[in-house]
Parts: sequence; structure tokens; C-alpha cells
Amino acid sequence: MAQSSTETDWVSRFADEVIAESERRAPGKPVVVASGLSPSGPIHLGNLREVMTPHLVADEIRRRGPEVRHLISWDDYDRYRKVPVGIPGVDESWAEHIGKPLTSVPAPAGSSHPNWAEHFKAGMIASLAELGVEYDGISQTEQYTSGAYREQILHAMRHRGAIDAILDRYRTKDKATGKPKKQQQKPVDEAELEAAEGSGAAGEDDGSGGAGGYFPYKPYCGQCGKDLTTVTSYDDESTELAYGCACGFSETVRLSEFNRGKLVWKVDWPMRWAYEGVIFEPSGVDHSSPGSSFVVGGQIVREVFDGVQPIGPMYAFVGISGMAKMSSSKGGVPTPADALQIMEAPLLRWLYARRKPNQAFKIAFDQEIQRLYDEWDKLEAKVADGSVLPADAAAHSRAVRTAAGELPRTPRPLPYRTLASVVDITAGHDEQTLRILSELDPANPLSSLDEARPRLDRAESWISTQVPADQRTIVRSEPDTDLLGSLDDEGRESLRLLLEGLDSHWSLDGLTTLVYGVPKVMAGLDPEARPTPELKVAQRTFFALLYQLLVGRDTGPRLPTLLLAVGADRVRKLLAA
Ligand SMILES: [Zn+2]
Repeated sequence: MAQSSTETDWVSRFADEVIAESERRAPGKPVVVASGLSPSGPIHLGNLREVMTPHLVADEIRRRGPEVRHLISWDDYDRYRKVPVGIPGVDESWAEHIGKPLTSVPAPAGSSHPNWAEHFKAGMIASLAELGVEYDGISQTEQYTSGAYREQILHAMRHRGAIDAILDRYRTKDKATGKPKKQQQKPVDEAELEAAEGSGAAGEDDGSGGAGGYFPYKPYCGQCGKDLTTVTSYDDESTELAYGCACGFSETVRLSEFNRGKLVWKVDWPMRWAYEGVIFEPSGVDHSSPGSSFVVGGQIVREVFDGVQPIGPMYAFVGISGMAKMSSSKGGVPTPADALQIMEAPLLRWLYARRKPNQAFKIAFDQEIQRLYDEWDKLEAKVADGSVLPADAAAHSRAVRTAAGELPRTPRPLPYRTLASVVDITAGHDEQTLRILSELDPANPLSSLDEARPRLDRAESWISTQVPADQRTIVRSEPDTDLLGSLDDEGRESLRLLLEGLDSHWSLDGLTTLVYGVPKVMAGLDPEARPTPELKVAQRTFFALLYQLLVGRDTGPRLPTLLLAVGADRVRKLLAA
């Protein structure tokens, strides 16, 4: 569906700006937007914003017609900085690889992938496919080791004095030693630290500090393969570069034919803006401070590479609420794959589409996901009946389809909270689940569980991976005879009224009327009467009694759903006083 140009959601506004800028800078060429991801470990769900922000803008541009390339730079030639904790198949022995490129580190034991970077890229690639993200992946290992950046590297080395002078504007000197201090990053919490570390080469050195002067290029050692190297001299004429390594190795190479090293991060990033002609590349708030790579990069690209800094909004942190420890499958880090296990791709896309990049938000792994799905279903209903507001319609459209087509949807999107309650009670038993789901709306029963999928599967994953065992619902196998025996006449009469009405009210709507109606009848009111404060107390008391008798607790899934799930026969057995 085409977006009208009068729409004013944030995606449309960036698309306007990016198209205009691209036509100014590179008329007739495809629009280029970019993201960068570092496969230094499991790619944090928070880093998905790095991809979704340009993706949504690129997709809007595609919908309008112009050709667009979304580059995802895999920063897999970055150094391996530390051994992440809790990764299956990885132990402390991986520490011996610190300093090597991520593509030269062995994959975790048991992996089918050739190296560390490929192992962690694979999960992200699968999630991006599920999310409908179309992109050109660029391996920086391939780029550097094939010599693709040869001219740019020689150029940067020739202009190392200029680069050093730009970096120096931002260096803060340590008063005691006179030595440059590195930029301090101050992540807000541990999760943010993880996200910041995944978003590029935060904290990497800028190439200063060598005795022989400043060099923006660092070779990986010819003996140990690590970057514990220091360039000691460089000759612009011959391109001969001499370096020594902490391992004791040293050699002289000719940079015009040498392909085993890379530009330092603060030079590498602006070099690639110029090389690829990037028009739009957002970055995390960790890159926004003075002296950060984005700010410094803007000067380096202009003064050294004769390029232009991309339009680069800073995006706010995306948090996670209630990620259960047990399901943080890889190293305690929630990944996009973890989110896609418990929610459908359109819902996850919607979270990014509806918030401006500078707005922080959280992705719910806890009970909040049920409310989120309710909100989504309300939005879908408004889209269907035409009462939706334009900005909400735009966010919805960006969630459910891309320029390439519709994303898979659940044919019968039953409420997520109902599905969750049902699979909670049935423990995923298919036949029982189908019976209950069909009884929700007997006039229009489900012919097979497939109609409720994939949403049903997501709800089932949520129950089994995120809801702690002590919060799961266990229906009593035998009646609570002590409690039944202790009931007064009123209690017994209310249960009798409920059982009497079961058959004639056996649907979600019918049982809702029945459970709220019984206390009204007991109070001598009409079943349609408006609730009074006294009535509300009576209803709460009645509901607590039903929960106790059915599941042995004071609360549980919504009662109509619970009754349907338990089944009429078993309800009679458990409630007969
Ligand atoms: Zn070495």
C-alpha cells in the first residue's frame, strides 16, 4: 500500500530528507542507508534499533519508488575483545584469541559455523529474514583482506598528520603524564553496556600512543595474528610500513600490497561513509558525546576523505522488561531471536515503527506482553473499521508489510492473553487446546490449531520460557472438600447458580456474563444491573472462591477462559458442594 506524502510520521519525514539529500549528493544513484553490527558475541536485542531505524526509512523510500540499498556492515574484522560469559561451548581457553579478528577466532564448540563471527551472525541473519529486513551484508573481513580499501588506507596514512590533528581537538590530556586519555563511555546500566559494546568498536584506541608518531592503521601480527602491534615507521613513497608486536615478532611490509590490518575505528567509520556514499546512518546515544566516533568522524570524512557525514539521528536505548534468566539462551543476552520466540514479527516491527528514534522504550518479556498484544489487536480493529488515526495507520502499515509484500499473519488472531491462559492450563496439549479455543466462540469454531498459529506458538513459548513455575496454573485434580464443606448457605447457593447456568452460557462471552451475574442475582439485583461498590466486593469474593476451588490459589487466568479450559464436566466435579 502506498504511503501518501502528506503523512507525517517520523519515518516519512526522514525518507523525505534522505531522498532530497541523495538527489543533491548523488543524482540518479541508488539511495544508500547503513547499519553496523559487531558479531563479537550474541547480538543484543537492543542493537536491533541500529538496523530497524534505517530499515524503516529504506522501506518507505522503496514504497515510493526510488532504488535504495540498506548496507549492513558486519564489523567482523574488529578485534576479539573479551570472552563473553555463559556462552555454551566456550570456556576460558578462548581468552588466548583476544586481539585476533573476530573471523579468526574459533566458533563455540559444536557450532556448524567456521568461526566466531559467522556463528553469531547466523542468528541475526535468521531474525532479519523473519522480520522482513532486506539488506546487503558486507563483511569487513572480506573488504579489508581483499584490498578493497587499499586506496583509502594509503590516503589515510598520507594524511595521518591531519587525522591526528582532528583527533587532538577532542583528546583530553592527563595532567600528570601528559598522555592522551581515551574517551570515557558511561553506560547507564549493564544491559546498556552490552548494547553499547555490540554497537561498534566503542573504546577502541584511535591509533595514538606509538613512539614513532601517529598512525591510523593497525596490522594484525604475522606471527600471532593479534593486533598487539605498534607501527614504528612508515614511508609514504615506498609505502613500507614497519611494525613490532608484543609477541616479539616484527617485520616490514609494503602497504600497497599488504591486506592484514585495518584502519582504527574512528577513521574506519568515516572512510566507509565516503567509500559507500552513505546518506543515512543512525547511531546509538553512546556515539553522541563530544569526541565520540560520530562527531569526530564528521570532521574526518570532510577534511580527509572529501566526503559528507550521513544524516545520523541518535537513537535512544531499547530496554528489556522481565527477561527470565532461564530463557536467555546464549550468554544471558536477549537476542532478536528470543523476542521472535514470544511475539510475531509484525508486533516487534511495530514497537520500532511507532516510536521516534530518540524515544526510549522497553520490549516486554513479562506480563506486559499481554497488554501490548491487547493494544495491537485494538489497533488492528481500528484499521479494519477505518477509525484509525493517520500516524497510527502508518506505524501499523510499516509493521505488517514491507515494499516486498505482506509479512505472515495469524489467520485467526485470538487474544494473546487467552491463548497464554489456555496453553498454561493445557500444558500445550493440542487436542484439549483445540477444544477450548473452539468453545471460545461456538458459532464460529476453529477447524484446526493452524488457524491460531503462529500467535498460539508464540504464546506457548512465552508461557514455557518466561512464566516462572510458581506462577503457572495447575487445575486441581480433586475437589477441595474442606473448603466446600466450610461454605455457608450463600456460598453453596452461588456455586449452584453458576453450575446451573454453565450449559446455557458455554462460550467466552456467555461465561463472562454468568460469572459477573451470579453475585448480582445473589444480591437480589437484575443480572443486567450496574455494579455498585458493595457488588464489586461480592464479585471479588466470589471470584476468589472459584479460583481456590479450581486452581488452589486466590488468582489465576481470567475466569471465563479458565472455566472453558477446565471443561464443564471437571468444573462440575470441582464445584459441586
Ligand atoms: Zn604477534
